[in-house]
Amino acid sequence: MSTASTNSPTAVPFKLDAQFAREFPELSSPGQGEDAPAPSLLLLNEELAQELGLDPEWLKSDDGINFLLGRDTEPLSQAVSQAYAGHQFGQFVPQLGDGRALLLGEVQDKNGMWRDIHLKGSGRTKFSRGGDGRAALGPVLREYLVSEAMFALGVPTTRALAVLTTGRKIQRETAVPGAVLVRVAASHIRVGSFQYSNLTGGIELSKRLADFSIKRNYPELASSLAEPTPQLYVDFFRAVMKRQARTVAQWTRLGFVHGVLNTDNTLISGETIDYGPCAFMETYSEDTFFSSIDTQGRYSFGNQPSIIGWNLARLVETLLPLLAETPDEAMTQAQILMNEFGGLYREALQAELALALGVDASEKKLFEDFQNLLALHSPDLTTLMRALTEGTTKPSGFEDWVARWQALNPNLKQMAQVNPIFIPRNHLVEDALSSALNGDLHNYLRLLKAVTHPFDREAGTAYLSLPSSPGFEDNYRTFCGT
Ligand code: AMP
Ligand code: MG
Repeated sequence: MSTASTNSPTAVPFKLDAQFAREFPELSSPGQGEDAPAPSLLLLNEELAQELGLDPEWLKSDDGINFLLGRDTEPLSQAVSQAYAGHQFGQFVPQLGDGRALLLGEVQDKNGMWRDIHLKGSGRTKFSRGGDGRAALGPVLREYLVSEAMFALGVPTTRALAVLTTGRKIQRETAVPGAVLVRVAASHIRVGSFQYSNLTGGIELSKRLADFSIKRNYPELASSLAEPTPQLYVDFFRAVMKRQARTVAQWTRLGFVHGVLNTDNTLISGETIDYGPCAFMETYSEDTFFSSIDTQGRYSFGNQPSIIGWNLARLVETLLPLLAETPDEAMTQAQILMNEFGGLYREALQAELALALGVDASEKKLFEDFQNLLALHSPDLTTLMRALTEGTTKPSGFEDWVARWQALNPNLKQMAQVNPIFIPRNHLVEDALSSALNGDLHNYLRLLKAVTHPFDREAGTAYLSLPSSPGFEDNYRTFCGT
């Protein structure tokens, strides 16, 4: 498309910063999005655009669309793809990186927080290996919907700003429409970014990356950066553990299965990232996994906390020399820190269950018995939690437990604000995506509205709150959608 567009306001309404690109040339590969034959803005999250100080009207203009595709971005931004490594299903891959993504830059939001604007599906990069650098519309719409639902549920997550279609068919199992997702995060620095830094630039680079992450994501620690001591990096790592423990505890509370918890999909900011083969369970079981590539169930529902712990152990390894004066002391310190993770997770989960059940976090026995009953009866967690909240039905098998719980006088008002009516149920998502791919966004937008107002019964029809028919989930598999 031409840049000399007719309907674009001439004044450029903003400029992105290039903090990462400037400070980490060794982790950045400058690039541009590929040209699109017939670009079109399919979805724009206007509320988020406003929050970021990006004028929605400009984003809708030809120049805006061009910008969102990562085309002709200078001088508005210095786009780069980021280098990172990662353990994929436990196997270390020394160079992954953004094979189909671009960091356009950072913008300060209305609360003064710096946020990344990032494109997924914008074309080949230095890190593409055999890949085509593109993304298919189905998975892009899926990520938009599920990440926005997670945000509405209060879970730390990357956000979705826009979906653009490129007008190009791309080759997957069949030819499918190509698309670009515009994603926003507190930062895209991953555990895998530290693995790559340590491998290629040693502790000097890891330290700079840690300092950058502290400034960016843990400002409460930043005052110590003037004279950093080992304690600062101990505090930093502990703070990352706390955020990750809380995030995974929220997944547990909501029955969310991420699907691909590789170290490159674990963010230092604690936000949930990369909604590929993720799904919400409808039949509670620790063993549930959906991803078609997770043949061993490594990333099953019940394994998620320990996998996050495993990923954090990979992170602490990259920080060792910063944690103490001598290698021996550093190893001891790392061990002490890692031993804390189990407790941090349990504490975070108790806090989540306390919220969801409207009782005090000290009710450990009540929580434990509740979790045992979930494992025994395998209910649809969302329906069960909402039934408790509204007192509509007494879930069968839970009668004695319910009596004990009710005796505690649970805070039902609070429960109504944390236990969703609407979640992105797999069958609804699949239906919405298949009609969207046939050019009809009606179902998709209806579902999007419901799951982004998850506690408001008026936001959707009763049908959108119901589990799938029996049997659907047994054969449900999700695909990475690359
Ligand atoms: P993901 O499964 O999306 O977390 O991606 C894992 C790795 O594969 C990352 O390094 C991606 O950049 C890369 N990748 C995924 N899909 C593509 C693609 N179509 N072209 C190039 N690289 C890709
Ligand atoms: Mg990824």
